Amino acid sequence: MDYTVTPLGEIAPTVAAARAAFVTGSTRPLAWRRAALERMRDLVQDREARLLDALAADFGKPRFEAWTTELGFVVNDINHTLAHLPAWVQPEKVPTPVSFKPGASYIVPEPVGVVCVIAPWNYPVQLLLAPMVAAIAAGNAVVAKPSELAPQAAAELVSLVQAINEPAIVAVQGGVAETTELLAQRFDHILYTGNSRVARIVMRAAVEHLTPVTLELGGKSPAIVSRNANVDIAARRIAWGKFVNAGQTCIAPDYVLVERPVHDEFVAALGAQINDFYGADPQQSADYTRIVNSPHFHRLEKLLDSGTVAHGGITDADSRYISPTVLTGVSADDPVMGEEIFGPILPVIAVDTLDEAIEFVSSRSADGDKPLALYTFSENDAENDRVLAGATSGGACVNGTLLHIANPNLPFGGTGESGMGAYHGKFGFDTFSHHRSVHTRSTRLDPAMLYPPYTAKKQKLVRKGMTMADPRDTLSKLRNKLRRG
Ligand code: NAD
Repeated sequence: MDYTVTPLGEIAPTVAAARAAFVTGSTRPLAWRRAALERMRDLVQDREARLLDALAADFGKPRFEAWTTELGFVVNDINHTLAHLPAWVQPEKVPTPVSFKPGASYIVPEPVGVVCVIAPWNYPVQLLLAPMVAAIAAGNAVVAKPSELAPQAAAELVSLVQAINEPAIVAVQGGVAETTELLAQRFDHILYTGNSRVARIVMRAAVEHLTPVTLELGGKSPAIVSRNANVDIAARRIAWGKFVNAGQTCIAPDYVLVERPVHDEFVAALGAQINDFYGADPQQSADYTRIVNSPHFHRLEKLLDSGTVAHGGITDADSRYISPTVLTGVSADDPVMGEEIFGPILPVIAVDTLDEAIEFVSSRSADGDKPLALYTFSENDAENDRVLAGATSGGACVNGTLLHIANPNLPFGGTGESGMGAYHGKFGFDTFSHHRSVHTRSTRLDPAMLYPPYTAKKQKLVRKGMTMADPRDTLSKLRNKLRRG
């Protein structure tokens, strides 16, 4: 399919058209939201072959991975949303203080307006459509912008968005110039997924219109392997999490800190796992992805100079192939530890103690570099708890990798340099909703306590009323006391 850039002059009118559709109120009814989501789901399913072909053409994404991590993910996300949406849209009744009675209080979720979704190239389908699902579920108009670096997928996605055939759901195609023009428009929320340099550009643009942003970024996500880990399982799950999509995954384990007594066993197990997954020559495997473009290929090739290659290290510039690679003897100052790797290169660093590993990660966090994901491997629960308590991250998985992102009941988002805000499931609905406070008062009574003239008697009554213990607070205090024992 042809990749056609949106003319710059068409971008402002496209956004204006989405806003005009929103202003009519057409996107608010539950029926509209359901129909749009069902239509999107049908299109993803009907166009499965086209989408999988596009992902294979862009960077050799295996069809199994493309379906599980992208198309299947989106279909599951839509099904989960459709099942829960009728409950999510309900106003939530909350307690009203006795002194405000007779009256009632509600939190009412409202659409914010026009949402802009800017997606990256590495999971082009999931990372464009999943935020759109949340924005539509919350009753918003959406302007979607796929990444120009996966052009075949981008062309398919723009065509899919157009086929939803709703004036409030539109797409813009292009790269830096088009996104710059897009960001000059006023939105009511922007969700950007990509690197932290561009995130700063997005946030600066949002400041002009006081637009809230959700930033889904990356960084160096560590895996920590204890001497008490099941080493074979740790190696298998880390190898899978790292080499899926050839390491071009925001939550891929970026590097491993392993306790010295199991270092050699772990490195050997990683090599064995790579052979099991992709055979002796992964270049021949139909299950292994290529690097997205030449600049990324050459950037990654340079990182192979850090430490010693324990496994892999083979490259082919013509096909942008880098074999699944394990590096050992890497030091914290090596280039491979200086930036997010975002490719199939896994440095393994030996540490003397778990505390040394925790200190390594938490000192980087203290410098602002809080990871998007953290993985801890031990058969000893107390050790995993120590790692989780000692080092923060956007999300975490114990004795596993990646899978925390696939549970729609968990929020997905970063912290510090790895991002701000979150989505998935109800959290996405909340991200794109304004939670409006509504207090309704009865007109049967209208005590004059708050109205001038402010007499001493009124002051006494108001002071008493406002400082009187709420029975619910007293109950809550009691419960906490019981919990503490
Ligand atoms: P990318 O190059 O595709 O860029 C992302 C988007 O930003 C694209 O739509 C692109 O057109 C736009 N863009 C690029 N330069 C711009 C500019 N100067 N002004 C305005 N817009 C611009 O993707 P990328 O940034 O290479 O993505 C990889 C990064 O994203 C990694 O750091 C990865 O960890 C992170 N990531 C995070 C998540 C997450 O969910 N947290 C998911 C995937 C990737």
